[in-house]
Amino acid sequence: MPSVRLQQVNKIYRSKRERVHAVRDLNLGITEGEFMCLLGPSGCGKTSSLRMIVGLESISSGEIWIGDRLVNDLSPQERNVAMSFESYALYTHLSVGENITFPLKAKGMPPPERRKRLVEVASMLEISSLLKMTPSSLSSGQMQQVSLARALIREPSVFLLDEPLSHLDVNLRVYTRNRIKRLHTELDTTMIYVTHDQLEAVALADRIAVMNFAELQQVGTREELLDRPANRFVADFIGEPPINFYEVEIQEDLRETTLRETSGAFSLPLPSRWESILDQLEGTVFEIGVRPHDITLHDRGYPQSVQGECEIFEFLGEENHLTLKVGEVRMTLVVSNREFFETGEKVTVYLDPNRIHLFSKDSGACLSSQLGSESASW
Ligand code: ADP
Ligand code: MG
Repeated sequence: MPSVRLQQVNKIYRSKRERVHAVRDLNLGITEGEFMCLLGPSGCGKTSSLRMIVGLESISSGEIWIGDRLVNDLSPQERNVAMSFESYALYTHLSVGENITFPLKAKGMPPPERRKRLVEVASMLEISSLLKMTPSSLSSGQMQQVSLARALIREPSVFLLDEPLSHLDVNLRVYTRNRIKRLHTELDTTMIYVTHDQLEAVALADRIAVMNFAELQQVGTREELLDRPANRFVADFIGEPPINFYEVEIQEDLRETTLRETSGAFSLPLPSRWESILDQLEGTVFEIGVRPHDITLHDRGYPQSVQGECEIFEFLGEENHLTLKVGEVRMTLVVSNREFFETGEKVTVYLDPNRIHLFSKDSGACLSSQLGSESASW
């Protein structure tokens, strides 16, 4: 079961009319047996990256290694990598069973062995009763299982999945997601899973590689991406409900240094852990990000308290979302399922200073992530 390594990989599509740089200088290592998600908005280069790994798309420059083999010039068959596609790509004139065993037949495997593998994989995915049917009589959930079975039957050493849940309805999506997670545990295979849905990535992945505009933004565990986002894009893309952003000015006077929200909605003392980077900061206007889970209800007058008024209260069962109007800005926080609010109600909240993120207004780079978050205080 090998690891996969991409080194300075580029994909440029060229046609007479245009040139699209779909993947730019991608460096990414996936360790043996790891479940890696490639996450990013539509068009950011996820499918192109997978297709280069599997060998369906040429690599414009760079190197792709599977285990200790440089696979740039190897055919898809030689790479021992299998991919399950977003569009299931099933042959309509073949039965489900014939569709699943098709890759084995193409390899010239004798029928008895093909049948043995078919029985195994069909039982693993609980689709044994479908084998004689035709793809046109299947539901989308069943087609997804068949597409997975056809990839798995090759016993690939690396298994690639491209948005496998995108055509399924919500209930089936959670079910199939759990099944994929279980398959990963059972098979112990290296998996690379593409999605634009952060909740899927967070639920499945050991590590997540976040891409945007053809470039890798950050690779990390869910906690690393939440607690130490590399930039504003990652901070915004990961987290539910989304992070709150505010433009702030850093104001220094003799007594204290404060973060003042630029429309005057609130002021906070500067977190003490930021003192060490204060001298390195250029300019005075920045952006801060505060996650809804890092804001708590508080009725005492701490300097880091913020007063607002309930604008939207969403009762969601396990936890509730409260959006406050604070001056001209909005602030969303998560409250327990025992807290209820009326529109217009006055609310005081506390922003955890150890968990406020500071971003450059120009580049979006996170300026505070290297400071850590555990031991610091105001
Ligand atoms: P994603 O899977 O993240 O949505 P893709 O890898 O499919 O992104 O596409 C990345 C970019 O490359 C997009 O701008 C897309 O339009 C372009 N692209 C993808 N495939 C081709 C192709 N065969 N020819 C030209 N451009 C392509
Ligand atoms: Mg895609």
